[in-house]
Amino acid sequence: MNKNKHWGRYEQLRPEQIETIFEQYPIAYLPWGASEYHGVHNPVGLDSIKAYGMCIDLAKSVGGLVLPVVHQASSTIKTYPGVNFKRHSLEFSEGLIRMMCREYFEQLAEEGFKIIVLLTGHCGEPHFEILKSVADEFNQKHPDKYFWTLAEFEVLEPDMLVANHSAIGETALQLYYAPELVALENLPQDRETTLVDDAVSGADPRPATAEMGAKIVETFVHNAGKRIKELLQKLS
Ligand SMILES: [Zn+2]
Repeated sequence: MNKNKHWGRYEQLRPEQIETIFEQYPIAYLPWGASEYHGVHNPVGLDSIKAYGMCIDLAKSVGGLVLPVVHQASSTIKTYPGVNFKRHSLEFSEGLIRMMCREYFEQLAEEGFKIIVLLTGHCGEPHFEILKSVADEFNQKHPDKYFWTLAEFEVLEPDMLVANHSAIGETALQLYYAPELVALENLPQDRETTLVDDAVSGADPRPATAEMGAKIVETFVHNAGKRIKELLQKLS
């Protein structure tokens, strides 16, 4: 199993399998998610499921090693001002997130990876800003490597996907990766969705489809993949 593959799930590989992939593709993908309330229609692990799925699809296309998902996040809807969703989110401190990000980057640099792609499915602030600033810090320190913190919507046109919370974009991705975890019928039938009532920030999730999710993933893989291939060429 996994012989001569160009990509793999890090935790499932033996050392020689890791080295085979690493030799040609010294690229680590670090999917960063959250356990966060995503309304009555989506699972609390949406950000993690989305980030992991997109890292795997990216690795399949480009090559490299996908690390296990990091589920710890700060800046969740639990403490978001103006809403009252106190349950079903596990929120960690900003200091811990910064420290974890530094230690992951340090370890991955020590392992010799040339490109470290941190794809965050959760973009609450300052969570997102912390992951970005740690990448800046490491890019200064390691000019022979590249640390890329990104969110999926950053490499997509706004008419395809914008930053959202459990709205049409995230729901389409959830429907693409694990449709059995979505229950759109749990939303009230008689009105539009809102942030305050439904934890939906962005367009109404009800028209979302798996096909829409597939299209987003395909474009994401194309655009992010292009950048990673260029970086690999430049750095090797
Ligand atoms: Zn989310």
